Amino acid sequence: MSPTAIPIPVLPQAQDVPEPAEIRRWASERGILILAHSYQDGFLQEAAHFVGDSLELARAAAREQAHAICFCGVHFMAETAKILNPAAEVFVPDLEAGCSLADSCRAEDLARYQDFLAGKLGRRPVTVAYINCTAGVKALSDVICTSGNAREVVDSIPAGEPVLFVPDQHLGAWVAEVTGRELILWNGSCIVHELFSVDTVRRLQEQHPGAVTLAHPECPKAVREAADQVLGTAGMLRVAREAQDQTFIVATESNMLYRLNKEAPQNMYIPAPGASCACNLCPHMQKNTPEKLWRALQARQPQIEVAPEVAARARRALERMLAVRPAAR
Ligand code: SF4
Repeated sequence: MSPTAIPIPVLPQAQDVPEPAEIRRWASERGILILAHSYQDGFLQEAAHFVGDSLELARAAAREQAHAICFCGVHFMAETAKILNPAAEVFVPDLEAGCSLADSCRAEDLARYQDFLAGKLGRRPVTVAYINCTAGVKALSDVICTSGNAREVVDSIPAGEPVLFVPDQHLGAWVAEVTGRELILWNGSCIVHELFSVDTVRRLQEQHPGAVTLAHPECPKAVREAADQVLGTAGMLRVAREAQDQTFIVATESNMLYRLNKEAPQNMYIPAPGASCACNLCPHMQKNTPEKLWRALQARQPQIEVAPEVAARARRALERMLAVRPAAR
């Protein structure tokens, strides 16, 4: 039996805000590139010129050479766009849209820990930073990764080199499993993915026996082990596009289902609920609204600034990531 598609969520009504296509056209006429992360709501995704995960957006920011970028995502993502495109004005709908994972790793704490490890190991470990971190942390890191390329990035480091992985302990633990490398892990985590419970995932699996469970590598180990596949959001999209009439249980931020329904509507997607709430929306991403986007586009504010010396060091670590060839997977 083929699954029944869950309808794409109704776009929010925004007073005095044009339709998403009109916003995009307005921005294009003024040379503004709108980027939106896949965890943004449907309205913002529709208004954007480009929707993607952190890696896709970093690549788009580097490739497009836009003079002005409006970034619908969280603060560290806009910083990344600014670092890769320093001549561009980069602005955001809400400067307060942060990230609990990025907040869990402060640059000064990381610097102290790197010094401690250097003393203990007799050499500095190679620091691999998940892209969900501040510019200051990127500047202290040797190479950046995303959930989509973390495995390849760690594989690119010569065997025998000690590796410190920051800030997400669950992603780091998964990378250690799939690469067979021993990694020193920072103990940060994402408040959204941390909340998925293996019990609720198993209950959904019992209710939908033919379903394929996809879990993001930021999920805790028990949830990853209950899943059929552990994938970043780009990997989830690839699997969904290749499937036909398949039911998927999806353990990641629930706005991802908007993109899945749009780009692979032949399947059914069931969001995995968190342990304490029925949805898994990122409260930081939710700070961006259609009204704030429209205001930001007109004012070209609030802008993101990164100190030039921090940006230069962070850019080196980002460029090292962009040079790592993606695996044919
Ligand atoms: S989903 Fe998690 S990692 Fe992503 S922005 Fe929200 S808190 Fe940060």
